[in-house]
Amino acid sequence: MAEHESLEFGKADFVLLDHVSMEEFMGNLKLRFEKGRIYSYIGEVVVSVNPYRAMNIYGRDTIEQYKGRELYERPPHLFAIADAAYKAMKRRSKDTCIVISGESGAGKTEASKYIMQYIAAITNPNQRAEVERVKNMLLKSNCVLEAFGNAKTNRNDNSSRFGKYMDINFDFKGDPIGGHINNYLLEKSRVIFQQEGERSFHSFYQLLKGAPESLLRSLHIQKDPKAYNYVKVGGQLKSGINDNADFKAVADAMKVIGFTGDEVQTVYKILATILHLGNLTFGVDGDVTLIENSKLVSILKDLLSTKEENVEKALLYRTVATGRDVIEKQHTVQEASYGRDALAKAMYERMFCWIVGRINDIIEVKNYDANVHGKNTVIGVLDIYGFEIFQNNSFEQFCINYCNEKLQQLFIQLVLKQEQEEYQREGIPWKHIDYFNNQIIVDLVEQQHKGIFSILDEACMNVGKVTDEVFLQGLNGKLAKHAHYTSRKLAPTDKTLEFDRDFRIRHYAGDVVYSVVGFIDKNKDTLFQDFKRLLYNSSNPVLKGMWPEGKLRITEVTKRPLTANLACKEPYYVRCIKPNDVKSPLLFEMQRCQHQVEYLGLLENVRVRRAGFAYRQTYPRFLQRYKMISKFTWPNHDLGSDKAAVKSLLKSCGFEHDVAYGNTKVFIRTPRTLFNLEEQRAEMV
Ligand code: ADP
Ligand code: MG
Repeated sequence: MAEHESLEFGKADFVLLDHVSMEEFMGNLKLRFEKGRIYSYIGEVVVSVNPYRAMNIYGRDTIEQYKGRELYERPPHLFAIADAAYKAMKRRSKDTCIVISGESGAGKTEASKYIMQYIAAITNPNQRAEVERVKNMLLKSNCVLEAFGNAKTNRNDNSSRFGKYMDINFDFKGDPIGGHINNYLLEKSRVIFQQEGERSFHSFYQLLKGAPESLLRSLHIQKDPKAYNYVKVGGQLKSGINDNADFKAVADAMKVIGFTGDEVQTVYKILATILHLGNLTFGVDGDVTLIENSKLVSILKDLLSTKEENVEKALLYRTVATGRDVIEKQHTVQEASYGRDALAKAMYERMFCWIVGRINDIIEVKNYDANVHGKNTVIGVLDIYGFEIFQNNSFEQFCINYCNEKLQQLFIQLVLKQEQEEYQREGIPWKHIDYFNNQIIVDLVEQQHKGIFSILDEACMNVGKVTDEVFLQGLNGKLAKHAHYTSRKLAPTDKTLEFDRDFRIRHYAGDVVYSVVGFIDKNKDTLFQDFKRLLYNSSNPVLKGMWPEGKLRITEVTKRPLTANLACKEPYYVRCIKPNDVKSPLLFEMQRCQHQVEYLGLLENVRVRRAGFAYRQTYPRFLQRYKMISKFTWPNHDLGSDKAAVKSLLKSCGFEHDVAYGNTKVFIRTPRTLFNLEEQRAEMV
């Protein structure tokens, strides 16, 4: 396929391998990487290997090469898939989505940005001002989201610590008229703690390093990250990140997007509040818990536009209702510290969601009248972190990995199962392909009553003794026989289950041991009412607006991840692979890569694709497109059915051996045949 590529770069499409085996697959992937060919296909799926160096393949001239072309006409590229999604949307009024997956550092976010850039570049040929404005907003919003949602980790200097799904809306002309962003699973624990070698979210360091003196003074902040407990671990790192310049870029982007001065100031105040909170310590005097550095309380009251006594009370007391009475119960030092950290995390998370919401307010399609403008269609781009297996895995990893199980399930349904089922429906002989269906693991997590989330919710609703151990007992009780679940209690001699609180799930991508510690807390996502009241009663309307009373619990959103949004769209896939752990442009670590190829299910993907056909079309549509190339079908045919007409057309072209005739569709095995048909067509029209 990729007609313009020579074979010295390996096979551009894995479907063309001589034999489908892991060795051949990996050999081809490695060869292409070493020849600087970072993209390949499996049919219509793009496989991408992170080059870890600047590639000269994203410029205007490359965009022109891909614009309006068919997938098989040019070498594999993200632009080709973006164009395919765009064409499907424009020609067939289909909603489409591009799902980008792969582990941290594999290149997902970069890919999503190139796709957006491509779409921005090929649309709006008439330079309509309104459309240009929308495009600018969509691109600018990235910069803001990355500042608040990304961080330096050991795997990636600019790691997205949230999942992002962005819809771009198009009008009937195919020009972008707006968009909408959904964010998932922000890793808020990073606000108070980072692993060795990692940083908190960029936004903190940008403020500390880039804000003008006067702003810092008004926030009572000193320039040095080492002065702040929550960020000091990462503040000492040498990194290639230019926080100073980024501060200004983000401030500009917020302004362009339309954040008001007050809104931006409030964001800075919240960042400063969190930094100060991290330095707050508690002590005891007799049986009274107190704040040791009371000067900070006065600063906090300014930043939060409230009274000093309110801040103090919220940090030290908890209002509890006992029967008809409401009493104020004093925190222990431990409870107070816990509350302080919870407040910091919650404030950051709310601010992040609020920022996304504000961006949505502005980029959302307004005044769209389908009667005037025709159907409004969508291209969605999903960039969400892949499978995570750390030394210690907790609730966050559990949610992320579950999310990936869902995506894998969607992939199986859409690509593998659908493909097989279509052949069956069409009455085309089909060799059965064995693949692992991970539905059983999805059920393990989400099934009513028996699933892990149900058991967790049940444990959380228990009155009285609600502990992680109770939850673990629930798991062991209900899942003891499940093939993909085990725990220390059930398998006492298993060496990978080191601690009493460990349980293990056999994910499709491999085994992961989770510690139940913190599951209950994180699932309840409780923030003492007293904190909510404190912020809701702020006299800063922007801050107050982030804390509307009775808002949906954040984990609710976490647990219903995304797939309904995707299932109704035509999917395109980008599978990203990270070639090594040292960010080297030269190193292709065989084992590391093979593992990723395995859990992305790429070999199965090739098998299904090869067993199948590259292209299919209903008989009437096929005729409509190609009838001019055969005298039997041009301008009309008298062959009875369209199926008979297509048969004689293909026979007259000599493609009989490369096609199959289904009940309603014609199937073409190799893309080359289609390419040839297209060429003949082009000569005629
Ligand atoms: P992910 O989102 O999968 O965690 P990123 O997209 O942030 O990974 O990529 C990590 C890093 O890898 C980037 O910061 C960049 O340095 C490098 N990288 C990724 N894709 C490309 C590419 N196409 N060209 C050059 N460098 C890339
Ligand atoms: Mg990312």
